[in-house]
Amino acid sequence: MTDPLAPGSTIGILGGGQLGRMLSVAAARLGFRCHIYEPGTEPPAGDVAHAVTTAPYEDEAALRAFAEGCDVVTFEFENVPTAALDLIEALVPIRPGREALRISQDRLTEKEYLSDLGLAVAPYADVSDADALARALTDIGTPAILKTRRFGYDGKGQARLTSPDDAEGALKDMQGAPAILEGFIDFSHEVSVIAARGPSGEVACFDPGENVHREGILRTTTVPARLSAAQRTDAVLLAGRILNALDYVGVLGVELFVTPQGLVVNEIAPRVHNSGHWTQNGCTVDQFEQHIRAIVGWPLGDGSRHADVTMENLIGDDMDRLPELAKEVDTALHLYGKRDIKPGRKMGHVNRIVR
Ligand code: AMP
Repeated sequence: MTDPLAPGSTIGILGGGQLGRMLSVAAARLGFRCHIYEPGTEPPAGDVAHAVTTAPYEDEAALRAFAEGCDVVTFEFENVPTAALDLIEALVPIRPGREALRISQDRLTEKEYLSDLGLAVAPYADVSDADALARALTDIGTPAILKTRRFGYDGKGQARLTSPDDAEGALKDMQGAPAILEGFIDFSHEVSVIAARGPSGEVACFDPGENVHREGILRTTTVPARLSAAQRTDAVLLAGRILNALDYVGVLGVELFVTPQGLVVNEIAPRVHNSGHWTQNGCTVDQFEQHIRAIVGWPLGDGSRHADVTMENLIGDDMDRLPELAKEVDTALHLYGKRDIKPGRKMGHVNRIVR
């Protein structure tokens, strides 16, 4: 695909969660149709998309039919099986490309890639067994965090070690999965940059947001983040470096720790990102539209920030506050249409304009 796609074209999205839902809304606003591929029933994106395929990622016939009906395919989560991607890619372009997925699917590969680019990351070591963990603890020390290399999200698959005595318990928490040990970064706060790159190489970054996590889950993002002008420039330049190195097309989230020694990259997400939801009410063109523009080959939009915003995630029984939230002034509600409220489940978010 070299020419820009025309309105009316079909965008395939692998994954039907809230990110797929908000991508579908943005795509529809530009006249595109979205086709969701999702193994689970009642995907939040299904309510707002043109078509939904409910099938496992192992169903080759369903994948083929899906791909043949799409002009471009993107994804809203990183863990799409490789064989499914191979099959789709033989029929239709996948944006962003496979390299970004390959790197972000494995924390060890990701750390190696980022440090090879000259970016600061936490000290890390590959840990496959108790001996390797003992060696890593000698090199890195404590406090430290043991993380599964793959399939971790929202703080899952992680164990904190305050002393080497915690090693046995932490390793047990990994349930035999390959892991990495990361030195604990003594950061003052966490920020993220949501950056976009188009097929011709143009790059646009949203203003960095400041993130607060609780129990490994993002709670709030506030813009502007507390950053000096130099840190702000560094954040944008390092995001651009990652995008260019990957020859990336689409939106990428870069999570950063702010330390007195500079910015340390925590992780990258090759997709729209929870910490970019504030852009829906703080920018003329939000992260979802920006991603759609990039993958269909349109010019990137104006993502400059026109308001101070705090985004708050609505998690689990935060939904009980809905009657009050709906009455708040200067507050935009975004709900994901999920039927079951469960602890830790992201149900929606609010964007509050701060005046
Ligand atoms: P992650 O799933 O890797 O993004 O980790 C979730 C959260 O755990 C991060 O947003 C940080 O608050 C914290 N965290 C993860 N890794 C480190 C680290 N190496 N040092 C300090 N805090 C960390």
